[in-house]
Amino acid sequence: MSETISGRTSRMIRRARWPRRAADLRHVRTISGLVECRGCGLFQCMPSLQAGQLAECARCGQTLEWRRRTSPLQTPLAFCISSCALYLAALLSSLMTLNVYGRERTVSLVTGPMELLHEGWGEAGVLVGLVTIAAPAVVIGMMFAILYAASRRQMPDWAPHLLIWYEKLRPWSMIEVYVLGIFVAYTKLTDLAHVDVGPAVYLISALMLTMAASDSTLDTERIWRHRRVDSVTRMENGRRVEVDHCRIEDIPMPPADHLVACPACGLVGELSLPVSNLCCVGVCPRCDHRVWRRSPETLARTTAFLISAITFYFPANLYPVMTFFKIGGGGGHTIIEGAIELWQDGMIPLSLLVFFASIVVPMLKIISLSWMVGCTWRGTSFALVQRTRLFRIVDIIGRWSMIDVFMVSILVAVVRFNSLANVTANAGMVSFAAVVVLTLFAAWSFDPRVMWDAAGLNGPSPDDVGPAAVSAARPRHAAGPDSMEPRQA
Ligand SMILES: [Zn+2]
Ligand SMILES: [Zn+2]
Repeated sequence: MSETISGRTSRMIRRARWPRRAADLRHVRTISGLVECRGCGLFQCMPSLQAGQLAECARCGQTLEWRRRTSPLQTPLAFCISSCALYLAALLSSLMTLNVYGRERTVSLVTGPMELLHEGWGEAGVLVGLVTIAAPAVVIGMMFAILYAASRRQMPDWAPHLLIWYEKLRPWSMIEVYVLGIFVAYTKLTDLAHVDVGPAVYLISALMLTMAASDSTLDTERIWRHRRVDSVTRMENGRRVEVDHCRIEDIPMPPADHLVACPACGLVGELSLPVSNLCCVGVCPRCDHRVWRRSPETLARTTAFLISAITFYFPANLYPVMTFFKIGGGGGHTIIEGAIELWQDGMIPLSLLVFFASIVVPMLKIISLSWMVGCTWRGTSFALVQRTRLFRIVDIIGRWSMIDVFMVSILVAVVRFNSLANVTANAGMVSFAAVVVLTLFAAWSFDPRVMWDAAGLNGPSPDDVGPAAVSAARPRHAAGPDSMEPRQA
């Protein structure tokens, strides 16, 4: 019995010290035809897909790969050229003209952020400027460069970094949310005075469609496959190791704890040792991105962002987001008052939309992410598939809460008629923008695979030195408890 316990103890301690043994690693093997689900962490064989086919995870239903029917380069290029032309035209044309008792004011896309800056709400002005003007321009430029790189026989070395940054920056281009913000602002303004919609509104609406089309026709998996895989790579300790290549059809399925997928390009590699979830493995031989089996410190970072978001949530809903002055009335509006006012004006669908995007979505994000973090800490397997699906929904709809921030930026820009009518932004808007951005960061720092790890459904891990194993091993060292090596995981 003591031999068994002794064997287990040494094995556990050896596993807990695994990162120090990374120096023993001699080679890495990349395996084509194998993919890891980013929703649940299950490694699966990927059949070659025909045009129009889509592969979903067998365990959680997440889309693994989708082969487009369209031409891989020409179609996104066509949409990208259209986006570029529409963007430049929208930037140079007027957004809307407001006529109050014969006095006119015309605004463009850049007026809103500039007015917020002048009013002293610099944080909100910079945020609106970044997500509606800078991010779309950067994303369109990056798309051109990626398509150019993909069209070359040998993909240039800068292209993988650009593709990684494109995927990170794409959610920050919020043209589609801005279009809805314009729509809400327009309905509020028609109450006040005569509004003429400028050409920029139509151009931005078209830009929203062309950007979505170029994004959905861009087949990133196909582009990654076009990139060569280096024969040598660098481990985290600086050591260089050789890289072999093989296909999953030619080898038996390796144990899951020896496999790791690159978080940027998805390339799957097999190591000769179990891979820790807690430390960086090395550099991807295909895209040069640092490879972690799981997002580092995912639970701690998500919890920190959630606590910050909850702190801002109360002032965001209690303080007015804007103050509307007009002859014969006006006053401060909180977010919920804005939705109620739309309802009273008979704009029921729009009122529900604002209520859902500004009140329900941030609350849903905070509650559901807290639930996911709590379940992961407890290691429960309750409703794992539903939790993973809920995470996908939360991740997608989070950006739509920016509608209210965009609406205020447009109203502040256009309604500036001194004593006749005036709109000013208030502290509630900055708090609300902070809630939206912090919940976006919380969702992006959460790695849903850790929910499946915690429930023990992704197989053994070198980090699993559970309390039971340590307490079972303790009697051997009963003479001197301090000599027992504490678990390091
Ligand atoms: Zn899955
Ligand atoms: Zn990679």
